[in-house]
Amino acid sequence: MRTTFKEKLKPTPEQERALEAVLWRCRTLYNAALEQRITWWRRGQGKSVTRFQQETELKAIREAYPEYAAIHSHVLQDVLARLDKTYQAFFRRMAAGEKKAGFPRFQGRNRWHSFTYKEYGNGARLDNGSLVLSKIGRLAVRWSRPVVGTIKTVTVSHEADGWYVCFSCAEVPIRPLPPTGQETGIDVGLVHFLTRADGVHVPNTRHLRTAEREVKKAQRRVSRRKKGSTRRRKAAKLLARKHQHVKRQRRDFHHKQALALVRAYDTVSVEAIQPANLSRRPAPVPDGNGGYLHNGASRKAGLNTSIQDAGWRQFLSILAFKAACAGKRVEAVPPAYTSQECSGCGERIQKSLSVRTHVCTTCGLILDRDENAARNIQWRGQRLRGLAGMPAGMNREPAAL
Ligand SMILES: [Zn+2]
Repeated sequence: MRTTFKEKLKPTPEQERALEAVLWRCRTLYNAALEQRITWWRRGQGKSVTRFQQETELKAIREAYPEYAAIHSHVLQDVLARLDKTYQAFFRRMAAGEKKAGFPRFQGRNRWHSFTYKEYGNGARLDNGSLVLSKIGRLAVRWSRPVVGTIKTVTVSHEADGWYVCFSCAEVPIRPLPPTGQETGIDVGLVHFLTRADGVHVPNTRHLRTAEREVKKAQRRVSRRKKGSTRRRKAAKLLARKHQHVKRQRRDFHHKQALALVRAYDTVSVEAIQPANLSRRPAPVPDGNGGYLHNGASRKAGLNTSIQDAGWRQFLSILAFKAACAGKRVEAVPPAYTSQECSGCGERIQKSLSVRTHVCTTCGLILDRDENAARNIQWRGQRLRGLAGMPAGMNREPAAL
């Protein structure tokens, strides 16, 4: 089991300057390495410099520039590894035929927030409760819980309200939760945060909505103020704080919901995550005259959906993690037509996004749209595990475990 422990750091002003300098140089190195890749690509007819070639050059860079010699080599190697990762992801998206593959970007000021020691004990270690970083010194940590397992990597990051350290640990002991003999499927939507197969809706938290409204307010304040002014910088700082607050609120909420599911169920079926660009847009409906009928999608809905998708991704990874910790199971099922199919008889009933009730003209089942989808997701999870076939007819009940 792998997990991450995140704690707040309490650097002295001097240490803070040293940490900032590391971030600054990491970012500069990243941009230089990206530039090199691009020029090599242009010169070499499609042949780019590799991460390993760049890594061997690090030695020369560190000899020529004392400010880079002052940074642990693993931290710099990690910067090149990150660049390599964004490249790989870019090529993967290209290969998948995504329209906006998003070429790796140069990172501007305020766009580099963390650096990593890839090997605990080599440049970063714990000593008597403080974090010791080579060439930076001994930093005080505000501990919230003990680190368990074997520390693998150490990441230092700068957030809106200060500095943090993350310990990524392996071999964290599993603490199984008692089995309950229950299972469910969950459907995520725009109206409710999620709906379970037994028809229970979990709403989005009001706290989160309030926090999101405050982010919008802070955003407006930033755009009202003059560029380059102190007042604008202050407003931007506040905005970053609000963003961080929303992020935390959402995370907490996800953790809470995931824990509740893992406690109550042995198996939770969910829709498999799709690549971001292919997600959840209703297909265009041709009208037969070369045009298109309204398919229930608006630009705004698309935007909301993409935000929702990002949140859903985080929630699923938290859920999968909690389930793994607790010895429970998360089943990812194919997501196509979960809301169109009738959970009673399997007939496909076309409905646009705005239709909130599933009404089956074949078997007569009338059900909340999301509950119907959640049931389908549960059936599919069972089918994947070979528990139930696809029994036709009304009132199917979940197979006993
Ligand atoms: Zn039906």
